[in-house]
Amino acid sequence: MTVHGSRRGTTAIPETCPHCGSRLKTWRVPDGTSWEEPTFLACFNDDCSYYVDGWTWMWEQFGQRASYRFAVNPRHGGTLMIPVWSAEATRGQIVDEAGEATRYERPDRQHPVRTA
Ligand SMILES: [Zn+2]
Repeated sequence: MTVHGSRRGTTAIPETCPHCGSRLKTWRVPDGTSWEEPTFLACFNDDCSYYVDGWTWMWEQFGQRASYRFAVNPRHGGTLMIPVWSAEATRGQIVDEAGEATRYERPDRQHPVRTA
């Protein structure tokens, strides 16, 4: 996996959630998903309309107690949804900007440490 230098400038990567205006947090993509990116930018505001409405929508459409959080692919700015089943789900993958929350290696490293 090669990370090209597609930094801000060519494509506008939003830094805030369009649904609630919260600052997006770096979120580490868990192993075992189909996503190729190491991280996304995600909204973890529990009052976000996208997230709040998601509970209602999932319940009405599928009878499931689940929702999703708004996220952006930091490589090209595409948006996506991260499914969650509780307010705490997926929070463990948040990468604190100060690097305190996890021992995650920053995505700009050439050779990310992988456990396998
Ligand atoms: Zn939001």
